[in-house]
Amino acid sequence: MYDVLVIGGGAAGFYAAIHIAENRDNTKIAILERGKEVLTKVKVSGGGRCNVTHAEFNPSELSKNYPRGEKELLGPFHTYASGDTVGFFEDRGVTLKIEEDGRMFPVTDSSQTIIDCFLTEAARLGIEVKTLCAVSGIELSEENKNLWKVKVGDNAFLTKKLLLATGSNPKMWSYVQALGHTIVRPVPSLFTFDIKDERISKIPGVATHAEVQVLPNRINSNKKSKIKQDVSGLISDGPLLITHWGMSGPAILKLSAWGARLLEQNNYQFKVQVNWVPDYHKNGLLELFLKVKEVEKKTVLRTKVVDLPKRLWANLVKAAHIKDDMTWPEVSKQQLIALADQLTAGIFQVNGKSTFKEEFVTAGGVDLKEINFKTYQSKLLPNLYFAGEIINVDAITGGFNFQNAWTGGYIAAKGVVEDLNTNVELE
Ligand SMILES: Cc1cc2nc3c(=O)[nH]c(=O)nc-3n(C[C@H](O)[C@H](O)[C@H](O)COP(=O)(O)OP(=O)(O)OC[C@H]3O[C@@H](n4cnc5c(N)ncnc54)[C@H](O)[C@@H]3O)c2cc1C
Repeated sequence: MYDVLVIGGGAAGFYAAIHIAENRDNTKIAILERGKEVLTKVKVSGGGRCNVTHAEFNPSELSKNYPRGEKELLGPFHTYASGDTVGFFEDRGVTLKIEEDGRMFPVTDSSQTIIDCFLTEAARLGIEVKTLCAVSGIELSEENKNLWKVKVGDNAFLTKKLLLATGSNPKMWSYVQALGHTIVRPVPSLFTFDIKDERISKIPGVATHAEVQVLPNRINSNKKSKIKQDVSGLISDGPLLITHWGMSGPAILKLSAWGARLLEQNNYQFKVQVNWVPDYHKNGLLELFLKVKEVEKKTVLRTKVVDLPKRLWANLVKAAHIKDDMTWPEVSKQQLIALADQLTAGIFQVNGKSTFKEEFVTAGGVDLKEINFKTYQSKLLPNLYFAGEIINVDAITGGFNFQNAWTGGYIAAKGVVEDLNTNVELE
């Protein structure tokens, strides 16, 4: 019999358990983890460095990084956000540093620092950590409807409060669904685009700042107007990386996150329009080219007049049917229009997706409408709490996914503690 059982020994589960134990003495808490090890995702996160959070300290700006959860997380972030996470780790001797793009990592550049911090805290606070403990069922106890019965193999544990922090686990979602909760169908988020195209072939590793927009999908022309409306927001800008398979980098990953559901509906077959020189529109760029044409005598290939990697410029010049030895005076206005078009509005066909450095999150999970975000408690069932990726929240890359786990873990812990204290008063 436990006061609190936390299912899932990941980021959210540990954060919640530590905050419960820290804020309430004599509370019997266990974390049940199905794996041999705990915190395995933390271990591999951020390429082994663990991108703990993001240096965005304004709650409303922070919430804008969550394609699912933007509205619902605003309140929770006013209670607990990145600054509080930094404080939590600082208090335990773990200093975080901010990188140029705002991502925050432990100064050790090792995710093991975060794991050690959690394991030390759990031991200090007397939290039982039970590994190889896969939960195979949850139900309200027949004898006492205020208690949860948690099945592990042939055994069962009873608990007053149950906190589910099992991440994107389909089995746990099915148990929760059987209890009456709605599960928003899971689809992958944070993926790169598979593109086979001469303009970006043979130049993997080339990176530049670009603006990318998903275009209405002609395959679904019968539903064109709806899809047009849906994708109108699917535009992003940022660093774009050309890979062996297509396009990656923050500009693409952002689109994959915001468009996760829509792009899945289109079976990952769609077109993107890329502006490789976002400072320019087509006409402005053409004007620049016409001026250059009057003064420049060298070949177009060798006179890169915009800020762009050389090899990409060469590919786009070729795509505009401008020969390698053609000089500016020789090139026609029509060809310059074609080049301006390639540079500001190049269209690429996407045929599928690939994972990004093995890093992915799942969009979908427990329906946000069924969670009270003041406590992360189920609105449908008593004494049941959720935290982390199990709920229908996910973010773009940059430390935001862990911040969801920390914020949910903290607020659920607060809810559990308040509830346990109230029950004691009533008893
Ligand atoms: C390779 C990779 C790198 C990433 N890097 C970053 C990063 O640097 N920064 C960032 O913000 N996000 C990153 N993410 C996303 C981030 O890891 C997740 O959003 C985060 O781990 C979610 O935490 P969670 O506690 O909700 O779930 P998880 O960390 O997935 O933990 C859930 C735990 O529950 C356990 N479990 C599941 N079912 C059961 C069951 N039935 N019984 C018992 N235990 C169960 C699982 O074994 C697991 O240990 C990365 C993801 C991946 C895949």
